[in-house]
Amino acid sequence: MARRFALPKLVVATHNRGKAGEIATMLSPFGVDIVSAGELGLPAPDETGTTFEDNATLKALAATRASGLPALADDSGLSVHALDHQPGVYSADWEGPTRDAIVAMRRIQDELAKRGVPDTTTARAATFHCVLALAWPDEHLELFHGTCDGSIVWPPRGSGGHGYDPCFQPEGDTRTTAQMSDAEKNAISHRGRAFRMMVEACFR
Ligand code: IMP
Repeated sequence: MARRFALPKLVVATHNRGKAGEIATMLSPFGVDIVSAGELGLPAPDETGTTFEDNATLKALAATRASGLPALADDSGLSVHALDHQPGVYSADWEGPTRDAIVAMRRIQDELAKRGVPDTTTARAATFHCVLALAWPDEHLELFHGTCDGSIVWPPRGSGGHGYDPCFQPEGDTRTTAQMSDAEKNAISHRGRAFRMMVEACFR
């Protein structure tokens, strides 16, 4: 049985204002006051884990230890099955120091070509992952793992979303997630799923 969240304030362990805003919107019905790690001036820990769970956990625990408040962290990325599940937890690193997603998308395409992977949705299967870690000040943790299955398309399509969205076509759709509205993407995305799991378990 997951622990219910019944505290008035929550730190979102991100320095990305977009992510903090998204989380604040999703939790707005539950009357929780949201503050971001960036706003509190908390240091961003090195993401040294080798799994999404490890990295989400270390970010959430660092924020709760530094602030004394409960903290929520997310770690996410794209796993391309034919590339031994790379880039995975290294998805942000593949975007390089300037965080340019086109560089990472091109690298995926080049690696698939180099390995002679055929141009079929099955051969180019990929999965987006999102792990949410909710940490209480006593270091109790609840983890939620959402996934979204699809395939890599080339060339990239669409201008919505962010990161790898223009080259990811979810199963059962002919559009990439960059060609969907935010609401459509949220209904099927790894992050939307992880959030709904967390809300069901801890906030209802
Ligand atoms: P994190 O912020 O350390 O979790 O890194 C997430 C990485 O995965 C970044 O490179 C993002 O571009 C990528 N990523 C995560 N979620 C999505 C998504 O919904 N669409 C596209 N790229 C994503």
